[in-house]
Amino acid sequence: MAIQGKVVAITGASSGIGEATARHLASLGAAVVLGARRTDRLERLVGEIEAAGGQAAATRVDVTRPDDLRSLVAVAVERFGRLDVLVGNAGISRIGPVADLDVEGWSAMVDVNVKGILHGIAAALPVFRRQGGGHLVTVVSTSGLKIVPTQAVYAGTKNAVRTLLEGLRQESTDGVLRTTSISPGYVRTELIDHAVDDPDVREQARRNMAELGIDPMAVARAIAFAIDQPDDVEIGDLTIRPARQG
Ligand code: NDP
Repeated sequence: MAIQGKVVAITGASSGIGEATARHLASLGAAVVLGARRTDRLERLVGEIEAAGGQAAATRVDVTRPDDLRSLVAVAVERFGRLDVLVGNAGISRIGPVADLDVEGWSAMVDVNVKGILHGIAAALPVFRRQGGGHLVTVVSTSGLKIVPTQAVYAGTKNAVRTLLEGLRQESTDGVLRTTSISPGYVRTELIDHAVDDPDVREQARRNMAELGIDPMAVARAIAFAIDQPDDVEIGDLTIRPARQG
């Protein structure tokens, strides 16, 4: 089955890459189920997708809470009858040298970026197994491929997910589960707004991102490409970055 008619749940669908992915997949005929904490934005997005003739539903999801992921999967099954793909996209970044000892920021990144994916797996795998098929797509980062100063912990969380998916892939060679890690480079989203406290550093980072970052829709198209494959084909890793990124 190609994208048309698939049921796709997306975490972090209230902005940036998640929002673009929801719009794009819905425009290609998928039913999308949106999760994030800012439900006002999700409701608005559902309205826009439906007004354009698409199918969408939304529920409040904090990925640090396993029950919220179970609810997201339940909404997909109750509303659209199944879940074909879970896009584990929700993520946060805190930028700064390790020596700053931002213990709170480290914990938050591990909770959202790593545990959030584990909670999604725990919620979706039983449904995928029951259905006899399913696809887990995670949004990791080029930060995990080329480690740069100030992003060590963030990169570590993204590489933890990459490792997790590779292990899961090797445990799933019965063909029931497909796994894909998408590694975006700089993308123009709100991620940077929450990444630094110092207003001057944040402003500089925003300017860099505005100048270099690519449109989130480019990542949405990469995710669609991974989903839009025949059932026996798995896109394992896909990197998508600005052409001028070092
Ligand atoms: P945004 O800040 O625009 O989007 C992040 C999304 O994650 C929001 O929808 C936010 O929703 C959601 N989110 C954050 N915390 C939680 C939580 N606890 N529970 C549920 N949802 C949460 O940034 P991006 O679109 O850029 O980020 C999407 C993914 O892409 C992230 O995993 C990020 O690490 C990754 N990425 C981004 C890159 C970039 O340059 N922008 C580069 C490489 C990877 P809400 O606040 O409403 O809950």
